[in-house]
Amino acid sequence: MKKFPQFTEEHDMYRKAVRAYCEKELAPNAEEWEHARSFPREVFKQMGDLGFLGGRFPEEVGGSGGDVWHTAVWAEELPRCGMAGLSMAALVQSDMATPIINEIGTKEQKEEFLTPAILGDKIAALGVSEPGAGSDVAGIITHAKADGDDFVINGQKTWITNGSRADFITLAARTDMDNRYGGISLFLFPTNTPGFAVGKKLEKIGNHCSDTAELFFEDCRIPKRYMLGEEGHGFYYIMQNFQGERLVGALSGTAGAQLVLNGTIEYCRERQAFGRPLSGFQVTRHKLVDMETELEACRALTYHAADLFNRGIPCQREISMAKLMAGNIAMSVVDGCLQLYGGMGYVEEGPVARAWRDTRLLSIGGGTTEIMKEIISKVMGL
Ligand SMILES: Cc1cc2nc3c(=O)[nH]c(=O)nc-3n(C[C@H](O)[C@H](O)[C@H](O)COP(=O)(O)OP(=O)(O)OC[C@H]3O[C@@H](n4cnc5c(N)ncnc54)[C@H](O)[C@@H]3O)c2cc1C
Repeated sequence: MKKFPQFTEEHDMYRKAVRAYCEKELAPNAEEWEHARSFPREVFKQMGDLGFLGGRFPEEVGGSGGDVWHTAVWAEELPRCGMAGLSMAALVQSDMATPIINEIGTKEQKEEFLTPAILGDKIAALGVSEPGAGSDVAGIITHAKADGDDFVINGQKTWITNGSRADFITLAARTDMDNRYGGISLFLFPTNTPGFAVGKKLEKIGNHCSDTAELFFEDCRIPKRYMLGEEGHGFYYIMQNFQGERLVGALSGTAGAQLVLNGTIEYCRERQAFGRPLSGFQVTRHKLVDMETELEACRALTYHAADLFNRGIPCQREISMAKLMAGNIAMSVVDGCLQLYGGMGYVEEGPVARAWRDTRLLSIGGGTTEIMKEIISKVMGL
């Protein structure tokens, strides 16, 4: 009997393929790419060729025609590359910047943007956050003004993953300055548009190999056919899109913390102190048990949210809870593991330092802990 029957044999084969790729092709480069603060562009192409960037997209747009459990496998296995920055960049491409194109895009938009992204031929970014509006999505001021057959875009984005080398951006901009929620629209923005500029790459405390950029738009003219979905519906599309984004964040964060814990358990069996292994101390065993239990609970909630999402049942509450819990638990587990490594936990060449830095992002990116609580409290009618 399978512990998780939602994963069929086909999902298991997919998991084997993703795992092999992450462990053999990516992980050996982790030190070098983290140090270089970048990874080669060809990685997107490799992932596209292997069919990893379109797990749950339909075959007619170039995807593999899978379901949310394919996405779960992808998000859970990526951390084996050892670089949350690379995992994040890949998940932006497959599950953050592109699903909304599949859901509401025209046939032409899918051909021009979605299919090349699934194949890894075009790099995608999601451009929502601005210097004055992160949590407060409806506070964005980047403006798209209709002019003949075009929109003219002016404004600025920040914190944009894949931003410095994206070929297109799924971009939120205001088409009505006076309508807070109903005045935002989505666009597919080619980055070779004149007037577009990439500002500085942001130096982060973790996720070093991913690029996170400031973007500037000065009189950028794009044709009206690049508007995604209906004018004025952008805010609601972004909220819809956030569900998948937060779900993969929770899945990937939980799996990444479990990997760190598994390594820590091995270490505690081997490392000797006072004439016995660390796991010989009851306090250590209990700490390991607490962490294993917390991750099991986190995974159960996240799988529950994924199941609802897969069946198309409204699950904003459960996905927000999963993201909230994963952010808190993953960080406390990785921090607890660092403590068990002692000095080896605090040095760069140790097995946990990078994960400790990287994991901190989970309760900020894609919606903070506090915003998750605000969403859940609204659903609770508080
Ligand atoms: C590495 C990285 C990658 C990112 N990638 C992308 C990307 O690809 N695309 C993109 O669009 N964005 C991206 N972001 C932006 C990210 O989504 C935002 O940083 C996040 O939503 C928080 O927004 P903020 O940074 O403006 O913080 P703020 O909104 O200024 O929040 C600051 C603090 O105030 C709290 N707060 C805010 N509002 C409330 C409230 N109502 N109640 C209680 N507390 C509140 C927050 O929880 C937080 O603790 C990325 C960020 C990082 C760091």
